[in-house]
Amino acid sequence: MPDPNGFLRYPRRVPARRPVPVRISDWREVYPPAGEELIREQATRCMDCGIPFCHDGCPLGNRIPDWNDLVRTGNWDAAVASLHATNNFPEFTGRLCPAPCEAACVLGIAGGDPVTIKQVEVEIADAAVERGGLRPQPVPAPTGRSVAVVGSGPAGLAAAQQLARAGHAVTVYERDDAIGGLLRYGIPDFKLEKRHIDRRVAQLAAEGVEFRTGVNVGVDVTAEQLRARHDAVLLACGALAGRDTPETPGRRLRGVHQAMAHLVAANRVVAAAGEGRPALAVLPDGTPIDAAGRHVVIIGGGDTAADCLGVAHRQGAAGVHQLDLYPQPPAARDEERDPWPTWPWILRSYPAHEEGGERVFAVAVQEFVDDGTGQVRAVRIAEVTVEKRDGRRIVSVVPGTERELPADLVLLAIGFEGTEEQPLLTQLRVTRNPRGAVDARPDWQTGTDGVFVAGDMHRGASLIVWAIAEGRAAAAGIHAYLGGGTPLPAPVDPGAQPLAAR
Ligand SMILES: Cc1cc2nc3c(=O)[nH]c(=O)nc-3n(C[C@H](O)[C@H](O)[C@H](O)COP(=O)(O)OP(=O)(O)OC[C@H]3O[C@@H](n4cnc5c(N)ncnc54)[C@H](O)[C@@H]3O)c2cc1C
Ligand code: SF4
Repeated sequence: MPDPNGFLRYPRRVPARRPVPVRISDWREVYPPAGEELIREQATRCMDCGIPFCHDGCPLGNRIPDWNDLVRTGNWDAAVASLHATNNFPEFTGRLCPAPCEAACVLGIAGGDPVTIKQVEVEIADAAVERGGLRPQPVPAPTGRSVAVVGSGPAGLAAAQQLARAGHAVTVYERDDAIGGLLRYGIPDFKLEKRHIDRRVAQLAAEGVEFRTGVNVGVDVTAEQLRARHDAVLLACGALAGRDTPETPGRRLRGVHQAMAHLVAANRVVAAAGEGRPALAVLPDGTPIDAAGRHVVIIGGGDTAADCLGVAHRQGAAGVHQLDLYPQPPAARDEERDPWPTWPWILRSYPAHEEGGERVFAVAVQEFVDDGTGQVRAVRIAEVTVEKRDGRRIVSVVPGTERELPADLVLLAIGFEGTEEQPLLTQLRVTRNPRGAVDARPDWQTGTDGVFVAGDMHRGASLIVWAIAEGRAAAAGIHAYLGGGTPLPAPVDPGAQPLAAR
């Protein structure tokens, strides 16, 4: 029986992050572990309210009150089992999820402080490792059916694990040199150290999943060859087509890059250092890209922009500006606009924002300014207003507000335009919709029989928790298609959307 008064006795507390000067001198995760006493206290704040809206906030339907109570009573093994019943990779979501569950927590009504659900989650996930490692689960007798998973991000990995545990032979094809999708070379180590991915990959391999890296499906292996080898194909290729701004004068200057180019180069250097190999941060064509000593301007306000900010400080940038088209959001939920339990539009600050840099809101770049040699030396910005008219975004410049910011490195973190156009799609006769994503039928099949889709490739650029949820659900669709017995869990359907007021 949960403690109905715990939230009255204990305020919300999260562990202190590592001090800024210390953490920006390395690439390790910014959060230290919470410690058992703090986390059991915080789990005690969950009153098991009866109708747990947090379940609806979490796309995975994580059984949050159950594992909060198990942690409160120190029943760690049962908490580990309860969490893994709905989430294949809680060590990823516990570190990286923006926690829509917390926005939906009953304790958050009327400006209250929700339970630290995400923190409890990561502590349970880490306890699983400390208490004997991530033991492979016994797999049933082989079904004799085989599935190809294309893409090894959280969607592909979640599907692979579910299908292997149902007895199917699963091969994951990844064009990169390492498994993990965006978690590997997109998201920096200070948010997710890569040992967490390596541990899971070892677990999946021990459960029978075969991994083939360095294979660009559609180029190194044709879709026809893939279909001849496997009974079903899951496409989990992400939404990696970066949005650009080709119409802005100066876009082609040296020093103006896609944010992902910077992140991947930096993360590869960290990976090489972990293997004892010296490496320079370079673009695929060998051009150096590094923020050391540079004035950096990051354009965009989301996860990617915040990750670039953290990377720039660790590389030793001279100064960083982060530009956002929209006005600064309010500090607290606007109940009219986003009533509880929906996801509110509020100012979100990531640990990277504590580390320095200046955020500039309601501005747009008018020009990337040439230093006379073809290298960017500044960005010319202007204040703007943004409004929606007939569903279209109208950006208007406020006259007389133009100014320059120094810039020798400009990073475009202005979003993604869906999945990349690539030979694989043509070969499988799979088309992208106007959002650049691939539509799924109710059973997660694309328009091509036996070819399924999940994760960002289906949803558009989204979140890890949605990728895992879609991977699990698509695995259930594939299992049924292959004539599997007991249905697999399907936490979402292809039309599922976050909680919304309208
Ligand atoms: C910089 C950045 C930071 C982010 N931070 C967060 C965060 O803090 N929290 C959060 O919840 N979400 C975050 N996200 C979003 C999250 O990473 C994605 O939603 C998630 O990774 C999507 O998973 P996925 O499996 O669908 O695809 P991805 O992770 O994109 O993986 C797709 C994989 O498919 C491979 N692939 C593509 N085509 C082929 C092919 N033809 N053959 C073989 N392999 C192929 C790609 O190489 C890639 O490895 C972030 C995203 C970015 C870009
Ligand atoms: S996965 Fe995200 S939404 Fe679900 S319980 Fe964990 S932090 Fe909350």
